[in-house]
Amino acid sequence: MIQEFAKKHNLPKYRIDQFNQQFFQQAIESFDELSNWGKDLRDSLKEEVEFMVLEQDRVFESENKDTVKVLFKRKDGQRIETVLMRHHNNRNTVCVSCMVGCPVNCSFCATGKMGFGGNLSAREIVDQVMFFQRRLVKQGKKVTNVVYMGMGEPMLNLPEVQKSLEIFTDPSKLGMSSRRFTISTSGYIPQFRQLIKDGYRGKVAISLHAPNQELREELMPVAKLHPLGKLMKALDEYVELTNKRITYEYVMISDVNDQPKHAKQLAALLSGRLAHVNLIPFNPIKEEVYERSSGNSIQRFKRSLENVGIPVTIRATMGDDVDAACGQLADRENKHHTGIKIGNL
Ligand code: SAH
Ligand code: SF4
Repeated sequence: MIQEFAKKHNLPKYRIDQFNQQFFQQAIESFDELSNWGKDLRDSLKEEVEFMVLEQDRVFESENKDTVKVLFKRKDGQRIETVLMRHHNNRNTVCVSCMVGCPVNCSFCATGKMGFGGNLSAREIVDQVMFFQRRLVKQGKKVTNVVYMGMGEPMLNLPEVQKSLEIFTDPSKLGMSSRRFTISTSGYIPQFRQLIKDGYRGKVAISLHAPNQELREELMPVAKLHPLGKLMKALDEYVELTNKRITYEYVMISDVNDQPKHAKQLAALLSGRLAHVNLIPFNPIKEEVYERSSGNSIQRFKRSLENVGIPVTIRATMGDDVDAACGQLADRENKHHTGIKIGNL
């Protein structure tokens, strides 16, 4: 954002460093707070560069205050959502959106039901994090983790996702370590390979949700394009290269994918692989008939996997009272979706 301005005004490098330090690390609230720039330069900056390209629309806070969801308005009037999760161990995780809606159309996901309204720019992704960075810095804290698990499929907006990662990890900007990032994907193989080839070494989460091809296709249309066998092969190559454990996300839907036979198949699929399973109790969405698995089924499922040595966690449901839990991000005021579904991509 600052590069073009610096070029136009012929600014020396130290000016850019000053800008980055105050904008990203101190997380100033407006360009007026750029204290080590003169007023004239600040005024030109204010005229030519926007402090935020997203506009804050509404903020929702969960009753126990551990989750904050923000609805942002884009220039085109569409809205996106971002969630901050405050964990007890001082971790502050921002869950960013990378699209308006999502074209992938998984059957259990509210975002998918919205259709696709466009890709976000890297600037819009960075703005989401900076919004919370500013709030946290005021309290002597900061954003410690970023997860690409909000609206949209990161692999289908890869260039902008990668640009945003560069800004987050750049030592002169936010300087966050790659370990602090998680990218979640429903399984686009070529783009995933590209991400790794380009050097991404953060965490990877795969939305698996079914232990076999047939059921996966039913729940996730992407499985038809990128079958399970090929996906596992690409993931094996990634593990081989990085020796990093992959998180497999598995939404627990009553009677659909939570039966003992599914647990058995999943155990067979993952045993011997460097895997971690994250069971996500299904969060109800308005449009679907699915129900969340019972606590007992989830525990039983967990034990079957643990019995073969696969580590399992059950994702804490945070923010469901403000519709901020996984899969619930969908803004019903967005009206301009093209309705592009996966078949058209
Ligand atoms: N598009 C990416 C990232 C966003 S979704 C992906 O699919 O991986 C973040 C996670 O929430 C995914 O694992 C997704 O499958 C899960 N999810 C979607 N709908 C859900 C729901 N209704 N209940 C629980 N988890 C859901
Ligand atoms: Fe898109 Fe992910 Fe939702 Fe599927 S689960 S529709 S890929 S956001």
